[in-house]
Amino acid sequence: MVLVIAETKSHQIKKSTWELIHAACASGQETQVLLMGANAGLAEELASQGAQKVHWVEHPSLEAYTNEAYAQASIAIIPLVAPDIVLATHSASGRDFMPQVAARLDVGLASDCTQLQWSGAKAQVSRPVYAGKAIVDVEFLGKGPQLITMRSNALGLLHPAPKTQGNIIKHTLVLGPFPTKMTPLQSTQARPDVTEANIIVSGGRSLKNAQNFQILENLADVLGAAVGASRAAVDAGFRPHQDQVGQTGKVVSPSLYIACGISGAIQHLAGMRTSKVIVAINTDPEAPIFQVADYGMVGDLFTIVPLLTEAFKKLKS
Ligand code: FAD
Repeated sequence: MVLVIAETKSHQIKKSTWELIHAACASGQETQVLLMGANAGLAEELASQGAQKVHWVEHPSLEAYTNEAYAQASIAIIPLVAPDIVLATHSASGRDFMPQVAARLDVGLASDCTQLQWSGAKAQVSRPVYAGKAIVDVEFLGKGPQLITMRSNALGLLHPAPKTQGNIIKHTLVLGPFPTKMTPLQSTQARPDVTEANIIVSGGRSLKNAQNFQILENLADVLGAAVGASRAAVDAGFRPHQDQVGQTGKVVSPSLYIACGISGAIQHLAGMRTSKVIVAINTDPEAPIFQVADYGMVGDLFTIVPLLTEAFKKLKS
């Protein structure tokens, strides 16, 4: 049996959680979901779209994500449910609390996986290592549930989505006391997060200043994309750190990654080389980004990006 740990944002189940649920359903195994915080509506949505059982834990400390509360609730529920496999997203929160859960339950964790295969009640996963230069296959040894965090967009969604008439089991837990407290959370992002987005338009140092990123924003608006950046662009103050893609930024795996004026340093590739389709725009035909690009355009991004924006606008209308 597979237990998926759900993530929510703005009172919605995240797409990355649906990917995990669909993958578990496609494996033919019983699929259960752990929902922390959230509301009855979301529990019902999960129970009708893939989950045979939804374990819903409602507690004031789970209203906003904190490492302590999520870890404590997971550690209470997982032994109770006794799954063979626990799947969570390799998101900012998944990479934060899942190692603690694994350590406290004394079981193995394979993190940041990009491939998932099933062998009976066991999972076989693969994950990039050495900044994406190699892929390692991970096999779980020993007893206890196999804990896995999957990269967003690595699995895709089933069409049509699975339908279920699952049960909702409400758990009342005594959680805390916690050493930290979340004060009100203020979102600074109007766009999808780069780790969640299906399309990313990303810019580098060559944009020259923060204002010039507007041309990437315009393209992103037409495509419904997120805007990413290289570390050079972030260090120069053109974009906030939350947009940085790469080894010391976020690891992304969108369907389409458009790299505008990004050289393709190994540390940047580490964060985006598993993207399904990579388009690179660069004035230098020798730029390393072209070695991983599926489509390359040699030229000035200040000319090409507005042309692309207009072309996509026309296509869409
Ligand atoms: P540059 O290397 O300066 O490249 C700019 C590119 O734009 C060039 O290829 C140029 O030909 C092209 N160009 C210029 N003008 C135009 C134009 N008008 N139109 C089109 N193309 C144009 N980097 C990351 O991105 N993410 C990380 O997480 C990261 N982590 C790091 C960790 C460590 C420990 C270290 C040492 C480095 C890390 N870096 C990271 C930095 C990385 O090595 C590179 O310095 C950085 O990625 C370069 O950013 P860039 O491609 O925007 O800039």
